[in-house]
Amino acid sequence: MNDVFVGKSRDGEQSDSKPSHSSEVFWQRRVPVRHECDVAILGGGIAGVTAALAAARSGARVLLVERFGVTGGNATVGGVGSFCGETKGQGEAFDAIVAGLESFNAIAPYKPFSEKGSRVFDCEILAVVLQEKLLERGVRLLLHTEFVDARANKGTIHECIVSGPSGPEAIRAQFFIDCTGEAQLVSRSGFETVKGRPENGLQLPMSLMFFVRHVAEAEASSQVPEGWFGKIKTADDLPMTSIWPNGLRSNAIKIKIPMFDATNTESLTAAEIQSRRRMMEVLDYFQRVEKKPWVFCHCAPRIGIREGRRIIGEYTLTCDDLRAGRSFDDAIARGVYYLDGHKPDDDKRTYILPEDQLQVPPYHIPFRCLVPKGSKNVLAAGRCLSADQLALSSARVMTTCAMMGQAAGIAAAMAVLKKGDLDIIDPLEVRREVEARGALLTL
Ligand SMILES: Cc1cc2nc3c(=O)[nH]c(=O)nc-3n(C[C@H](O)[C@H](O)[C@H](O)COP(=O)(O)OP(=O)(O)OC[C@H]3O[C@@H](n4cnc5c(N)ncnc54)[C@H](O)[C@@H]3O)c2cc1C
Repeated sequence: MNDVFVGKSRDGEQSDSKPSHSSEVFWQRRVPVRHECDVAILGGGIAGVTAALAAARSGARVLLVERFGVTGGNATVGGVGSFCGETKGQGEAFDAIVAGLESFNAIAPYKPFSEKGSRVFDCEILAVVLQEKLLERGVRLLLHTEFVDARANKGTIHECIVSGPSGPEAIRAQFFIDCTGEAQLVSRSGFETVKGRPENGLQLPMSLMFFVRHVAEAEASSQVPEGWFGKIKTADDLPMTSIWPNGLRSNAIKIKIPMFDATNTESLTAAEIQSRRRMMEVLDYFQRVEKKPWVFCHCAPRIGIREGRRIIGEYTLTCDDLRAGRSFDDAIARGVYYLDGHKPDDDKRTYILPEDQLQVPPYHIPFRCLVPKGSKNVLAAGRCLSADQLALSSARVMTTCAMMGQAAGIAAAMAVLKKGDLDIIDPLEVRREVEARGALLTL
């Protein structure tokens, strides 16, 4: 069969073209199966890219689906140009990416991880490096292609529906990895997910990244016209604002935009709109009040999302695990970053925990955190892992997401090459391969 039916079928129901007054529509159509592969990876952020690199290196035929024109997710389209955590010993997939950035002289020199340190890189060059590394490994890329829907039958997904410029089409794969950040594949296939804090669903806040260029003082003045946006009068009225160097005579600026839901279309739309208004107010403050000789350069086309949906996995990593520096036999990644849980309900530099409780020792992430409960051929990697919100606040940094991605790619390829599903995977074998590929799991 080379096409599949999509539509949430309700037995006995007929679709017809008559207008209906129901609050739901029932939609069915045949969709061509245009792509067949061993491992389909949905979402091309740092987790998706490292998963693809790792699965391809194992010899699997890999297809990577990304809705934007470049891969990298938060690290490129989101404008988040700095790796937090330890940048050595994350595994060969991440090493290849760092080496690529180094060839372009587009990343700060290595420093061993210390408390809040990070390694700044050029987001635009990263987009180039990622695509070249993926193609070098033989990964097939579908850009401008959005994952739309999937159905699981007794825990197994056979096809998923994506849509790009060619229209809706199906991907048939032996194994799927959800790296969408929002656990879209996992939730749409009917596996369980959660979001935000248990008591009210509030998620870690989003932030917008924008960039300014430095000019001679004589050329500097406010670029924001009167009457369009509010005025920020003093530094105390700024939202949490982080400023870091962005190459020569340029700064990256990050502003906190709390109280929106990344998994809700209207809320995310409102967040995008508010973030650009706030950006103009902040820009105006720095130009007009602080007299910074800055001109607006550009803004990330997408607001940065720290937290969306998380899978409910075979194991849920907890803040207590991190505090205890817990080790697991089936470890596939190691986190070192602090509990970077910004308070979801205000826009200042505030944390969910008191500042003296943020540090954690190195800790393990077990393979089971990537396995959605009940799934047979689906894994998830990156910021949609199975973790509580505070554990996520540390594990979400890109270095750790890259480790999870590499492990998911290795495991998926292992299952495919053994012609089996998750039941055939020995997590200890995954761990051995993760370590053989240079990931340091020592606590
Ligand atoms: C403002 C901000 C600042 C941060 N600062 C740092 C920092 O300094 N250092 C650090 O290490 N980490 C930082 N983080 C965390 C880090 O950037 C992210 O947690 C990490 O990049 C997540 O990687 P990911 O691959 O899991 O998800 P993402 O980067 O979100 O990637 C998900 C990808 O999936 C794609 N996708 C989603 N849905 C679909 C779909 N339906 N179809 C097709 N594609 C889809 C997206 O377009 C995206 O490319 C920051 C995060 C934010 C938001």
